[in-house]
Amino acid sequence: MPRYEYRCRECDTQFELSRPMGESGAPADCPRGHADTVKLLSTVAVGGSSAATSPAAGAAPAGGGGGCCGGGCCG
Ligand SMILES: [Zn+2]
Repeated sequence: MPRYEYRCRECDTQFELSRPMGESGAPADCPRGHADTVKLLSTVAVGGSSAATSPAAGAAPAGGGGGCCGGGCCG
């Protein structure tokens, strides 16, 4: 069930509710009992597109191939 964020305009409390999509626009009562709430835009947490990662930066060679300890000579 998706979660939606709401904010109470009376006491400025922000709260979340899990409810069916069809009820996302239905009035939600503030935890303190106020009915004057607004639905906030849900921020979906997907990967950001601002910082591109460089895959080759400081990449170590695959383990087990070149290291002495990988070959069993260390002990
Ligand atoms: Zn309230």
